[in-house]
Amino acid sequence: MKAVVIEPGSVLGVLGGGQLGAMFTMAACRLGYRVAVWDPDPEAPAHRVATHSFPAPFTDQHALTRFAELISVVTYEWENVPAELCRTLEQRKPVRPSSAVLSVIQDRLEQKGFLVSNGFPVPSFAGLTVPDQLAATVRQVGYPALCKTATAGYDGKGQWRISREPDVLEVERALSESARPGMRWIVESLVSFERELSILVVRGVDGQSRTYPMAENEHEEGILRATKVPAPGPSAVAERAAALACQVIDRLEGVGVFCLELFQLPSGELLINEVAPRPHNSGHYTLDACSVSQFEQQVRAICGMPLGEVRLLSPAVMVNLIGDDTLPLMQGAGCRSLLDIPGAVLHLYGKHAIRPRRKMGHVTFLGETLSLALDRAKQFRNGPATGPTLFA
Ligand code: AMP
Repeated sequence: MKAVVIEPGSVLGVLGGGQLGAMFTMAACRLGYRVAVWDPDPEAPAHRVATHSFPAPFTDQHALTRFAELISVVTYEWENVPAELCRTLEQRKPVRPSSAVLSVIQDRLEQKGFLVSNGFPVPSFAGLTVPDQLAATVRQVGYPALCKTATAGYDGKGQWRISREPDVLEVERALSESARPGMRWIVESLVSFERELSILVVRGVDGQSRTYPMAENEHEEGILRATKVPAPGPSAVAERAAALACQVIDRLEGVGVFCLELFQLPSGELLINEVAPRPHNSGHYTLDACSVSQFEQQVRAICGMPLGEVRLLSPAVMVNLIGDDTLPLMQGAGCRSLLDIPGAVLHLYGKHAIRPRRKMGHVTFLGETLSLALDRAKQFRNGPATGPTLFA
């Protein structure tokens, strides 16, 4: 059966109105679609660019009815939207990626279980349901380990490192203090990786998929700091990452844009850290360095349109602006000196409140070579922004 194509002029629904929802909305509007953004926070950035705004709790039945009537298809900007809401919407309109895919991905234990049972490589892990079983669970996985909440964690939130046996008691206490009924955790072996990589894959309603070039990522305190693309190194690693990404999303039967976060071990082996069912921060370079961005691909894929090119037009280094990184850009000469750097493309998300660890914007540095793009990013990082050197 041929899938119905959703034509420009239709209203696309997006759950979640952060920067990813806003960039999706802008890409959709450029293609002639209209977008209904549903996010309980009236200050969420995507409301400013939406055609229809739903600043209502996700439990609001009246909003649900109006939203479902208005839209032709639903997507979401991150995995922590309620799967139950997606299941309800799915009875009326297509949800892409489906609620079944979302349910598998949004729970770290379900996700890792799915990956392992399908033979995909992941760090060793075990589930935990009661904090006082922590010591026994870490013993199964081995020291050092990382304990993460099974649901609702992101950007390193809800994670505890357990380097040695004496750390267990302290982490157990932290888990008990934050525990809610039915809460579960995953304990993973702390991987001593050589580098972190990611790869975007877009898969259409017809099951065809394409991957963007592999990117190399640097994190600070569990948050993405910078991405460089194409990731340096042997092309065989990038080919393996691309094959893995397509296999995982095929197995999930996912429709939309996905990102695999990977650890590369010193042996060259790749392990999957996690799968995101949406455009990813490490794919923001596609806005400025590719003819079709990850957000436009999300629009195309969920609407049953042909997928776009995934070709890199220029090497790029993307640097996140986190917390008060944006202060120097708002005052004095900071913004001017950044915009003076050739190849610098600034994206500010329009968030009013600056909070530590909050993603406020990003800058993409383009260059004829990756080394030139990196020099430009370093020029910025050592100038208006402060912090450790990128990709030291
Ligand atoms: P996550 O929220 O799971 O993506 O974790 C955020 C970051 O924490 C990752 O990008 C890694 O830098 C680090 N991390 C997460 N899980 C592991 C692991 N099992 N071993 C080593 N580092 C990890």
